[in-house]
Amino acid sequence: MIARPALDLEAIRADFPILNRTVNGHPLVYFDNAATTQKPQAVIDALSNYYQSTNANIHRGLHTLAEEATAAYEGVRHKVGALINAPDPRSVIFTRNTTESLNLLAYSWTQRLRPGDEILLTMMEHHSNLVPWQLLAQRSGARLVFLDVNEAGELDLAQAKERIGPRTKVVAVVQMSNVLGTINPIADLAQLAHRAGAVCIVDGAQSVPHLPVDVQTLDVDFLAFSSHKMLGPTGVGVLYGRRELLEEMGPFLSGGEMISAVTPETATWAALPHKFEAGTPNIADVIAFGAALDYLQTLGLEALRAHAVELTAYAMVRMHELEGLTIYGPSAPERRGSVVSFNYWDIHAHDISTIVDQRGVALRAGHHCAQPLMRTLGVPATARVSFYLYNTPGEVDLFIDALQEAAAIFGHRDGA
Ligand SMILES: *Cc1c(COP(=O)(O)O)cnc(C)c1O
Repeated sequence: MIARPALDLEAIRADFPILNRTVNGHPLVYFDNAATTQKPQAVIDALSNYYQSTNANIHRGLHTLAEEATAAYEGVRHKVGALINAPDPRSVIFTRNTTESLNLLAYSWTQRLRPGDEILLTMMEHHSNLVPWQLLAQRSGARLVFLDVNEAGELDLAQAKERIGPRTKVVAVVQMSNVLGTINPIADLAQLAHRAGAVCIVDGAQSVPHLPVDVQTLDVDFLAFSSHKMLGPTGVGVLYGRRELLEEMGPFLSGGEMISAVTPETATWAALPHKFEAGTPNIADVIAFGAALDYLQTLGLEALRAHAVELTAYAMVRMHELEGLTIYGPSAPERRGSVVSFNYWDIHAHDISTIVDQRGVALRAGHHCAQPLMRTLGVPATARVSFYLYNTPGEVDLFIDALQEAAAIFGHRDGA
């Protein structure tokens, strides 16, 4: 047996003030973490402390507050770089969210693609890693090629070998599906991409919050993720990029902060990372994101992952006890993230969500910004529970009780 560092759930829960509230007369059971996570007091404090004691614009001012704010903001860039093992913190660009990071890439690839070039995606992409490439294909004449999702909810590497070829210029893949929980073989896909001369872009919105992700081990060219899905504030995203590629790329947004010199007619660009951070950035939220990273690092991503696997396994066992319940995605909890999408009898996912909300359980229902995947699954929508470090087996039990109530309301025996 390998000794696992266990999480002290009671102590962790005490750090999240929102977990004290009730919803419809019941304690909140927050199972919508794949949409956004709750914030520990340390993050809330970092945000208000910044405004109470340090607020200033960064990079320009020479006064004390400006220097302190700049140091704090740039310090978070180093923390993000360390988290993903970026070889150089200048490769870490702050954006608004994963969506903006991917749009930045798709926009800057416009000049690099020709008619006949191919962009390889998968059928499990979030719309954020699909629509920007659709628009790029329309602008450039490039073609979209997709990897299928098989019965097990996984990609097929043999098919990837067939479909990644000399025409492929971009391979853009989600590392952990927000619907199926599938963890994709990114290192293998990156290798196939590089052999074909393509870049490998990873949507890490679900993976970075839950797994140790090392851009050098995976050998990926770009990685996008969002602060708000890993205990940090909304309004902060990250784009990591291989330094040589970022150097070659033109700017996305332009204006202040991103220039080196400006004449009435032309401008030259600031060095990395500032070339991609036009205008006043989201200073306060980036600094508070740093507090979220500290919080996660103190617990350790390995311990988080172990908790996620255990809780997901428990939830899947309890859900499988219910007659009429279908779970989508890989069956082995170690092969998936802590999201479990399901349908229950013929009850519409929205109805499930509304009924369990009466018991204080927050879950997601709908297409989860992955309409092509819903088509593959042959359903219009799913309900989805998704867990994070503060969730407990006891909460899973409350959720199961609430589901059985939904079954009873719709005239099904609960089958448990
Ligand atoms: C949430 C999510 C996104 C989009 O993140 P935003 O923060 O809304 O930009 C993209 N991909 C996946 C897999 C996600 O889960």
